[in-house]
Amino acid sequence: FIWPFFSHFHRSQAIVGNSGRRSSVSADPVPPDDQIDDKQSPVSAADVAWYTTKDKILCQVLDWVRRGWPLGQINSEFLPYKTRQHELSTLRGCLLWGTRVVVPVELRRQVLATLHNGHPGVARMKALGRSYLWWPKLDEAIANWVADCQQCQHTSSAPPKAPVREWELPRAPWSRVHLDFAGPFQGHTFMIIVDAYSKWVELVAMASTTAEAVVRALRRVFATHGLPDLIVTDNGPQLMSATFQTYLARHGIRHVTVAPFRPAGNGLAERAMRSAKEALAKLGPGDWHTKLATYLLAQHVTPCPTTNRSPAELLMGRRLRTDLDRLHPDYVPEKPLDSSGRARSFQEGEWVYAQNYGGIPVGCRARLLRLRGHGHTEFS
Ligand SMILES: [Zn+2]
Repeated sequence: FIWPFFSHFHRSQAIVGNSGRRSSVSADPVPPDDQIDDKQSPVSAADVAWYTTKDKILCQVLDWVRRGWPLGQINSEFLPYKTRQHELSTLRGCLLWGTRVVVPVELRRQVLATLHNGHPGVARMKALGRSYLWWPKLDEAIANWVADCQQCQHTSSAPPKAPVREWELPRAPWSRVHLDFAGPFQGHTFMIIVDAYSKWVELVAMASTTAEAVVRALRRVFATHGLPDLIVTDNGPQLMSATFQTYLARHGIRHVTVAPFRPAGNGLAERAMRSAKEALAKLGPGDWHTKLATYLLAQHVTPCPTTNRSPAELLMGRRLRTDLDRLHPDYVPEKPLDSSGRARSFQEGEWVYAQNYGGIPVGCRARLLRLRGHGHTEFS
């Protein structure tokens, strides 16, 4: 019975430490943000269920799904549902088409805004939406949303001219990575790393792009993903320097250079590289740290339109949870042990084993005098 108490006490300490640190960070002035509203919580399954009851069409469809469809003619607005009637189901008040949540009218704008986090194009928004949600004419709504986005129209790129030369298909995740620089955007040059296998993008804001700085940044990225077998870059001076070459040699990483004026040489990885650069160009003023993180998460979870697998699935072997998962009625949030009743609870006056985590670590048998909440406890 000692361990549960031990862990409980320890966790409480950790929570105090975290909140203290967070408050000191948020003391920094945060510029107003034009795009991301962190105060608005993501659409939840409960929201979907609530607005489904307010949506005249979905209400009727839900009723038919539960009690059977009418045999005769029905109004044309119900046809998209009627043609899918054998794939429609309900779960906790939400309507599902297959595994996709049918989003009621009231929530569609908010969901479109979430799909457009980081300003992906139409194809990527459709690919992301496909894994989570649906409503009639969703594709049209997505196309209109992008057409109406000023930032997207402002920075829309010309389609690629030359056909891309394909590299040998990489056989394993994080085996061949492509490295390039972009910027300056918002006063920073960014190092972009793309995994050729999964198209996973890493972005690092660089204060400088000397060989030493590049090696330092790579070490940090490789701490997460491990060492690649091959790194593809242009022949920038810092990448040809002895410092960089020595670092690669020491870790057995082969280096291939491609001509900077022929970026098509990087093939599909270069396509991911280019969309990362476009995303950086769209950062705009405001809290670019937040925008960058939002773009990266969206990039990591958006399935590639051709393979239907996301970079995270290919690189990490799992789907990452995002705001969009919250809207599915299947989603069950993890509860802290304290609220589930599984954690050991204590009575005042009880004998326990207490461990001191502040100052000198001391563990001893003690009598619990008073529980004061937030993990604070008095002992004798
Ligand atoms: Zn946009």
